[in-house]
Order: sequence, then C-alpha cells, then structure tokens
Amino acid sequence: MFTRLYLKNLKKVKEIIDEADYVLIGAGSGLSAAGGLDYSNKDVFKENYSPFIKKGYKTIWDGLVDNWTVTQENKKSYWAYWANHINNIYYKANYTKPYEDLYELIKDKNYFIVTTNCDGQFYKGNFDEKKIFAPQGSYGYFQCEKPCSEDVYNNEAMIDKMLSSFDEDKLIIGEEDVPICPRCGRLLRPNLRVDDTFVDKPHLANIDDYYEFVESAKNHKIVLLELGVGFNTPGIIRFPFEKMTKYLNETTLVRFNTTEHGVRKGIEDKTILIDHDIKESLEALVKI
Ligand SMILES: [Zn+2]
Repeated sequence: MFTRLYLKNLKKVKEIIDEADYVLIGAGSGLSAAGGLDYSNKDVFKENYSPFIKKGYKTIWDGLVDNWTVTQENKKSYWAYWANHINNIYYKANYTKPYEDLYELIKDKNYFIVTTNCDGQFYKGNFDEKKIFAPQGSYGYFQCEKPCSEDVYNNEAMIDKMLSSFDEDKLIIGEEDVPICPRCGRLLRPNLRVDDTFVDKPHLANIDDYYEFVESAKNHKIVLLELGVGFNTPGIIRFPFEKMTKYLNETTLVRFNTTEHGVRKGIEDKTILIDHDIKESLEALVKI
C-alpha cells in the first residue's frame, strides 16, 4: 500500500529533480539488490548457486565470507565459487529495471554517478561511462594477488575456462584452470577493494571529473540521489553526501533506503526519505 506521505514525497522528489541544475547519484548495493542481485536473498541463492547449498551456504554472502581469500590450499574450491559468482552477477546478469528507470529519470540532466557497486550494471545501460566513478573495482577483472604491477586482466575467457572444468559434486575446478599472473606466476584474484593490495588505478580515472562536478555544482541547485547505500563503506557515499547537504546551500538529499534510513541531525529539512522498495519507487518516479 502506498501511503499519502510516500506519494507526496515522490512528487516532491520529481519536482526537485526537474528543477535541479545538477544531479549527483550515489549508488550502493541496495540498488542492485532491488533489481534482484541480492546477496542476502535465499531464493536468489537457491536459484543460481544450487550446487553450493550442500556446503551449508544459504545466501551469496555466506559463500563469499567462506571464500574470502585465495591461497595455494583453497584455490580449486575458492575459484569454483568465485567463477560461478562472477558469472552470475556480472556476465549472466541482465541489465536490471532499477538502473533502467534511474536512467530514464535523469538522462536529460547534468548528472554524475559515484558507486560502490562492482557488478557493472551502470555500464550495461546508456549511462555515460565518463560520468561514472566506481572506485571499488570490477567483477570483470583480475589482478595479481600480490601486485607485481598495476595491470588488471579481463577475466571473461578465464571464467569460461573455470566453469568448463567445474565439478558440481566436489565443488572444485581443474587445477590447470586456476588463473595465474602472466607476469610473476603468482595467483590472480578478483580486482576488488578487499584489502590494501587492491589495484585501484584503473578505477580512479574519473575521480577528478567527480570533484570538478561537485565543485561546479556548489552555487547551483543540486540534488543528491542516494540509492541503497548502507554502512559497509559509508566514507565513499553516505558521509560525503550528508556533508555536502549540510554545507552546500541549495542542496536536497534524497535517501532511498528501506533498512538503514536514519536521517542525520541538522539536515532533516534538506533530506527526503524514501523508505519504500527502491525498484517500485523508481518505477513510480518515471511515471509521474
Ligand atoms: Zn604478478
């Protein structure tokens, strides 16, 4: 059921976007989860990761936590899980509806995107790649486990190879398909910001454009659309967005969040909270 307050708030958000000179989008895992790429959803796991149920995993997260770091000892089982995961979440996953609707909503605006998501959803649609800052990495690349260079490696062919030797009973891949660094012979690992050995250079290309966007938005009407951002890495989107809301004059923060939806003291009158399902809310916004 849509409450009157919710509908009123949606209308207000639409008006603010229409009037804004700048739209800054901050997207977290909640946006992808709303499109079905939900790491905590048991049905998503059952449908796409069924061989791993016998390991006791119930969600995608369970499998990631159990396979956090690749080593010489676990490499065959580690990659069994990760090859399936990367294939499901990155290569096989369709472009999802929340991203499609978000694009419809802002396509004619002067926009910029900062996201902690690594699933490539923003790159599957029509968003301008030059306007995306995604500093946490990408599921589409590997890097050396102990970086011998700042190179990253497109992993599509390696993922295919690993899946072709995936043994569904033993939950391992063939040793010969374990990805190896072409420069130093160490193991490769996903190019994600999991610790301080993350090779981040390829993902920082747009950082200056991001800062410039914020800088030039300063004395204009700016709306911050924060979508599904929690507290895993709040220093990248959530806290800076709250700070901008506080210190920039003509700013509105729209927080789309169904679970972690507190509003920071001091910016209550500049914040609109949409605590309803993100997918439905974006759908409704496009139709207003
Ligand atoms: Zn290496």
